Amino acid sequence: MRYSEQALNRLSVMQAIGSRGPISRTELTALLQLSSATITEVTADVVRRGLVRERKESIKRSGRPRIQLEVNPDGGIVVGTSLSEKSGLNVTFVNLASDILFQCVETLPEERSLVDLTANIASGLEAAIASSGLARESISRIAVGLPGLVDRERGILHWMATMEDSPYAVGPYIEDRLKIPVTVESGGIGMARAEYWFGRARKRPNFLLVDVDLTVVATLVSDGLPTAGSHGFNMEFAHIKVDSVVNGRECYCGGRGCLAAYCSFFGILSALNDKAAHEDLFSVPPLANGMGRFHDVVRRAQAGDPAMVAHFDMAGEKLGVAVGNYINACDPGYIFLMSSDKAMLDLMEPAFRAALKAATLPALEQNTEIEIGSVAPSWRELGMAALALEQLFVSS
Ligand SMILES: [Zn+2]
Repeated sequence: MRYSEQALNRLSVMQAIGSRGPISRTELTALLQLSSATITEVTADVVRRGLVRERKESIKRSGRPRIQLEVNPDGGIVVGTSLSEKSGLNVTFVNLASDILFQCVETLPEERSLVDLTANIASGLEAAIASSGLARESISRIAVGLPGLVDRERGILHWMATMEDSPYAVGPYIEDRLKIPVTVESGGIGMARAEYWFGRARKRPNFLLVDVDLTVVATLVSDGLPTAGSHGFNMEFAHIKVDSVVNGRECYCGGRGCLAAYCSFFGILSALNDKAAHEDLFSVPPLANGMGRFHDVVRRAQAGDPAMVAHFDMAGEKLGVAVGNYINACDPGYIFLMSSDKAMLDLMEPAFRAALKAATLPALEQNTEIEIGSVAPSWRELGMAALALEQLFVSS
């Protein structure tokens, strides 16, 4: 998402006040290296809008008491949602100080139509707002995370595996139903944002996050903001080619040789030619049978079944090649590799590290840190709540 210079200044001021407040205007000026005129202008604006409040410094010093700035927790509520891998729509309500006020899961019916799924998400949000007990008018923004190719500037979902009726203006539809501003974004980007706002990347404005789950999602964060292509699209790391586009394994996108066809829950089940389990994985929400089959493969590999171990070695190797190519092309410096099923990453790790080393130019490989971890609960919807906060802060 492209923000104006003014909006970026407002965002960095809000981030600094949020992470370091109470903080004075003088300290903000030094910290952000912006002119004092800019700091005065931006802080006056956020105080006027009730996003930040002033308080007199409690410690008495000689001379004039300094005014300290802090985020006003009661300045508004934002909502983040993600599609659950089990039962439906995860919804999280957060105040401006990033405190979680309410969380729930709304059950969604199984759906193949994006138009119907969008209507169900709007209904789920209405139900969540009702059960939160929070005043509807206090909700400033909603951010909806969906797995797919999203034009986040217009709220249009251009493609989502197994969903008919794309492209579809998901954001405008939900906004019209709820009468609350809505942003739609790829769910993986929400996770990168959660790492930056609440997690391990708080002090790292530049990193690549790779999430290996049903499919593979990656997000590059640069100067604290997820990057997007010239059409506003998110990165489709799942479909980076790691094998022949003629003879490689078939992918759910219709192509061949894609990373996701080897390295994902989908990819592992592809190795088994388990078409029925595939169908289950890509239903919304995914059905238990597909995930059950996947967990069965994990258990057998953990027990040392050579045929099953080979699937994870293959997945690790393909991921190592894809990430290595990315490092060669873009030098992200820091990579978070994560999954909601950490056992899968553990099985893949030796082959991943070996392939990464072989695929990456040594000078780049030596300067790249890799961290492997699991996805924390609520991480996806919290990241979307962070996006809603970001949108609130940058809007004028
Ligand atoms: Zn593909």
